[in-house]
Amino acid sequence: MKTCIELRQDYQQGGFKLTERVEEMLAKIEAGKHLNAFIQVYADDARQRAAEIDARRDAGEKLGRLAGLFIALKDNMCMAGKRVTCASRILDNFISPYDATVVRKIQDADGIIIGKTNLDEFAMGSSTENSAHGPARHPMNPDYVAGGSSGGSAIAVAAGMTDIALGSDTGGSIRQPAALCGVVGLKPGYGRVSRYGLVAYASSLDQIGPFGKTVSDAALMLEVISGGDSNDATSAHVPVPAFSGYLDTTEKMKFGMPAEFFGDGLDDEIRAAIEALARRLEDAGHTVTKVKLPLTEFAISTYYIIATAEASSNLGRYDGVRYGHRTENAENLESMYVNTRSEGFGPAVKRRIMLGTYVLSSGYYDAYYRKAQQVRNLIKQEYDQAMEAVDVLLTPTTPGPAFRLGERLSDPLKMYLSDIYTVTANLAGIGAISIPLAKTENGFPIGVQLLASSFKEIRLLQAAQAVENLAE
Ligand code: GLN
Repeated sequence: MKTCIELRQDYQQGGFKLTERVEEMLAKIEAGKHLNAFIQVYADDARQRAAEIDARRDAGEKLGRLAGLFIALKDNMCMAGKRVTCASRILDNFISPYDATVVRKIQDADGIIIGKTNLDEFAMGSSTENSAHGPARHPMNPDYVAGGSSGGSAIAVAAGMTDIALGSDTGGSIRQPAALCGVVGLKPGYGRVSRYGLVAYASSLDQIGPFGKTVSDAALMLEVISGGDSNDATSAHVPVPAFSGYLDTTEKMKFGMPAEFFGDGLDDEIRAAIEALARRLEDAGHTVTKVKLPLTEFAISTYYIIATAEASSNLGRYDGVRYGHRTENAENLESMYVNTRSEGFGPAVKRRIMLGTYVLSSGYYDAYYRKAQQVRNLIKQEYDQAMEAVDVLLTPTTPGPAFRLGERLSDPLKMYLSDIYTVTANLAGIGAISIPLAKTENGFPIGVQLLASSFKEIRLLQAAQAVENLAE
């Protein structure tokens, strides 16, 4: 298998034509239609861009860092003139008037955006079953989920329908589907990538990040999309290294395994695979030590208070006036709001709006929202402290492998627990990556997660590369 950097080189040396490769990609998307990975496919635009880039290459022009490559976007990112559905009825037929910063950067780098992928409505979920466009399906067995909320992006990369895909990660939505589908998924530290043009779920937790087949694919995409942005006041104006150039190192690294991530509820095969990895890392000369993160047990409750509070506020804008769907059935302004929102939002989104409104309401604000903010701060401090002694933390990405479609839909709490190992990185604002490690006896992928302090992506990616080299 070629990495994206090898493909790019191959393309620049005349090894293939994009006008031909685009047809291969479109054929794969067509052949995998039953997986429901894409909500929109931009076949004609992609063909046209392919011809333009081929012509520029043939004329000897210097091409961008993504030339030769295809990119898919989770359908909660805005692209001018295209629908942005968020897999919600409330945004059906809403056309974005502008490009997200990541879209502009991809296009400036000569990447070809081939389409937009399926997701849980407004990125709320862990299985891509909460989609107005129907559930996405696991590429190895369509009776199983692909994870979520960026399930479509994970499938698209796993099934070779695109080279790289972008997802958004509020509590695990890049890393969890990456682990379940057997691809690499990277959540950058908060502020690394501009959120301008990403439809907000929980603004203080959301980050855009890449899916790729290899660590170097993810690193390449990260260097393209990173950087401060005057359109996003929370983006960080810090230098962006060419991450993909730093991956190979002979330096020995310190990995910390937090005991709290290996307790009850972790699948035996996943535990065994990670323990075996730890031994191989030590054999390769790295250090693996135990660390303690006792606040981990509060992470899920803290996350679901903060995420739902922010979501209930962010979703207030879908009022039938400014965006997308408006009810036909209204006698007055109030019933217009109520009916528009009742018709437009699905059950998972409504549940979160109710939870979020409740924790923000006067009388409960102090008990829930303020308390959760305090715990969040403590979690961040706990991570900062743990990171003083190690380069990266080594944990499972998910408590179990892919599960059956429908299995957790009726039990939201069980679904929420799918994120038990991923939400802390978002609460602490740090970078994290999931790397395919092994397969279960049934052949489903097992992912392993690494976490590193903010803006220590070079270290994170070097450690990820070391893990990838040792994966089964
Ligand atoms: N599953 C988590 C949630 O539903 C995380 C989703 C995400 O990261 N977007 O909130």
